[in-house]
Amino acid sequence: MIDITKYDENNVFAKILRNEIPSKKVFENDFVYAFEDINPQAPIHILIIPKSKYCSFNDFSENAENNSIGDVIRSINKIVKLLKLENGYRIITNVGTNGCQEVPHLHFHLLSGKQIGRLVVT
Ligand code: 5GP
Repeated sequence: MIDITKYDENNVFAKILRNEIPSKKVFENDFVYAFEDINPQAPIHILIIPKSKYCSFNDFSENAENNSIGDVIRSINKIVKLLKLENGYRIITNVGTNGCQEVPHLHFHLLSGKQIGRLVVT
């Protein structure tokens, strides 16, 4: 059962942000870092993480300043434009055990590169 009640400095995305483990960078600004998922589920599968420490979407939406939320969402839009995803894409953020969240640092999956099918719950 994943713990998203307090931030774990040793989670894998915290290590990526600190450059302690490698990642394939797609985009970076003051607010977010975006990189390729190590186990892609679509031709384009990017993870977008805020540089600030939020465990999950719960933590972010409850505790981040309005400006910070806007900065992250607008950064996602910049990445969509950079990757020229005119034909569409899907954004997912998994939360907690039932959401199948594995890494306790807020991340948005950006999936595209083909028509990725309907959302399937197994
Ligand atoms: P979650 O299930 O938490 O929403 O998704 C975690 C995602 O992180 C998974 O899609 C997984 O493939 C990806 N991931 C886990 N460890 C690493 C890593 O070390 N590097 C990269 N690039 N992706 C990772």
